Amino acid sequence: MTVDGHVAAPQGFVFMPRTPPGSQSSLRAANRDRVLGVLRREGSLAQAEIARLTGLSPATVSNIVGELRESGDVDVRPAVSGGRRAVRVSLSRRSGVVIGLDFGHRHLRVAVGDLAHEVLAEDVVDIDVDHQAQEGIATAGRLVDDLLGRLAVDRADVVGVGMGLPGPIDAVTGAVGSSAILPGWVGVPAAAQMSERLGLPVRVDNDANLGALAELHWGAGQGVRDLAYLKASTGVGSGLVIDGRVHRGGAGTAGEIGHTTLDENGSVCRCGNRGCLETIVGTSVLLESLRTSHGPDLTVRGMIDRAVAGDAGCARVVSDAGRAIGNAAANLCNLLNPQMIVVGGDLAAAGETLLEPMRQVVHRFAVPAAVPTIVAGVLGERAEVLGALALVLREGEPIPR
Ligand SMILES: [Zn+2]
Repeated sequence: MTVDGHVAAPQGFVFMPRTPPGSQSSLRAANRDRVLGVLRREGSLAQAEIARLTGLSPATVSNIVGELRESGDVDVRPAVSGGRRAVRVSLSRRSGVVIGLDFGHRHLRVAVGDLAHEVLAEDVVDIDVDHQAQEGIATAGRLVDDLLGRLAVDRADVVGVGMGLPGPIDAVTGAVGSSAILPGWVGVPAAAQMSERLGLPVRVDNDANLGALAELHWGAGQGVRDLAYLKASTGVGSGLVIDGRVHRGGAGTAGEIGHTTLDENGSVCRCGNRGCLETIVGTSVLLESLRTSHGPDLTVRGMIDRAVAGDAGCARVVSDAGRAIGNAAANLCNLLNPQMIVVGGDLAAAGETLLEPMRQVVHRFAVPAAVPTIVAGVLGERAEVLGALALVLREGEPIPR
């Protein structure tokens, strides 16, 4: 993913078959749509890869790419593949753009990307902790208007909007699935309201699912079929990828690992239970435990920097958090057997100070054959917003009804 300065005004782009079935021309149109579909999903491909992914013959792919190049729908760039000269094909700027929105407990991040999977512009603002939905939607609307204006992109050229919220999303209503976890959004049909504000189609998903999608396609998990993404920040969530697809569960709330019970008699969690993982490793809990020793002004970033630099108290708190996360992760490994766990969120910046204790506990409590590779995410704080772009680009991803 790269950031680029300018975008030419693209024209609308339709992925639906345009001709009646049964005729020679409808077959050509269907083949063309298959090529466009894999390009939208994969971003940029060699012609041989297009042939493999669509099942079309290399000659057919070559003809279709030639036509699409002539009509300006695709760009073709020279590249080297396996030491041989090749060309890479991607959808052109005139094919449209996508928008990603990532709501955190403390921030709102917006990105505009093109269909070649390049980020054209990005912005981030602080918003109130557990902000009200209407306020968040209004702020997002302003940021989107501003970014589209800066890029001189017409709203009609936006193919779709992906949006992440830090809570469970109900698969049936598209609303936040648990009122206790994101109180400012109780009963709000988030996708519908954002869609109304923007005048654009919006898909909404849990933020950890989006982090999982982004690390899977563009980050640490490329090529992995079974992966768990753990987002450790204010809360703890997970996105579960099973056989290459995000697993959302019957109601769309799979992956709420933060509410795994670790201490039956522990503090009461915002979900109403006691001793959830989140009550032990949520960043505000970690800072609170350092208040006496390090004062009231310590920030999450400050705690992590000190932990990495060898401050004994901060390192102890972060490594204990790693152990607690490892405990919940070991159960996850026994149940789902991911090949890889990618750790994201604020705490991931602590690197090995967090990960090594986590690995030790997973080794201890998971059955040996289920122990996965455990790594930090490579997309950092951008993972979720990039995942929101991926939600729109990866057509194959089923969206909650
Ligand atoms: Zn809980």
